[in-house]
Amino acid sequence: MKLTMLGSGAADGIPAFYSETRVSKHARLHRGKDVRSRPAAIVDDVLKIDLGPDTWYQLMREGLDARDWIAVMITHSDDDHFSIDELQYAVFPFNDMEFFGFPIYGNQPVCRRIIERYPAWPFEVQVTKSFQTFEVAEYKVTPVEANHKRDEDSHNFIIDDGKSVCLYATDTGYWFDTTWDFLTGIKLDCLVLECSEGFNPTPYNGHLDANEFLAVVDRLRRMGTIKERTRVITTHHSHNGEGTHDELTQFFCSYGIEVGYDGLTVEF
Ligand SMILES: [Zn+2]
Repeated sequence: MKLTMLGSGAADGIPAFYSETRVSKHARLHRGKDVRSRPAAIVDDVLKIDLGPDTWYQLMREGLDARDWIAVMITHSDDDHFSIDELQYAVFPFNDMEFFGFPIYGNQPVCRRIIERYPAWPFEVQVTKSFQTFEVAEYKVTPVEANHKRDEDSHNFIIDDGKSVCLYATDTGYWFDTTWDFLTGIKLDCLVLECSEGFNPTPYNGHLDANEFLAVVDRLRRMGTIKERTRVITTHHSHNGEGTHDELTQFFCSYGIEVGYDGLTVEF
């Protein structure tokens, strides 16, 4: 399986809009891996995860084509993950296509918003529920319950292509027992996990900081869900997390954890 990290930033990206934080200023100056667009990923260039406001730019940057997609899977309805307007360009009158080329998977609020916004448009929506596996071509996808935006069934996704297994976990705080129980017995080849708060923890419990990230990884290692060779990668970094790419790398490298960045592609 190949996973490309299209966006590794949090909701306002890095450098953030209207922001003079140290991390934003550093990114404006140094660019490179410090520039983080809004969170999204794609598996094998075809299975799209989230549809944020930077989708057009991310596809252009990576030389990808939305017509290759076989599904779009939305983790939850927050704006940085689900920009509903981006759907309309797939069909007439924006182009000649009369039918949307692939289904959109999302929780109840996501699907409801699509239907209400585009009642007569040819979108195929499939409602997802945590812990209920669905299949897209050769991929088995299982949403697991995220500890994030608790007024809806926010998901992290386990993606299994029959050869390898990936958990894409943005956004979430420390999981509830239901998710920990579900992950028992699962062996991951790749974990992409959010680290929004970096070195600057807040009282909000719907995101992880760097030490909470380590606690999650440590527990997964003790459970055997993460093996020696499992790729563990951070994502969803906020400019308020007080960590540049180099500083985060310095912190995480001794734990065998890779700091994600826009355009990172991993094969496992
Ligand atoms: Zn987010």
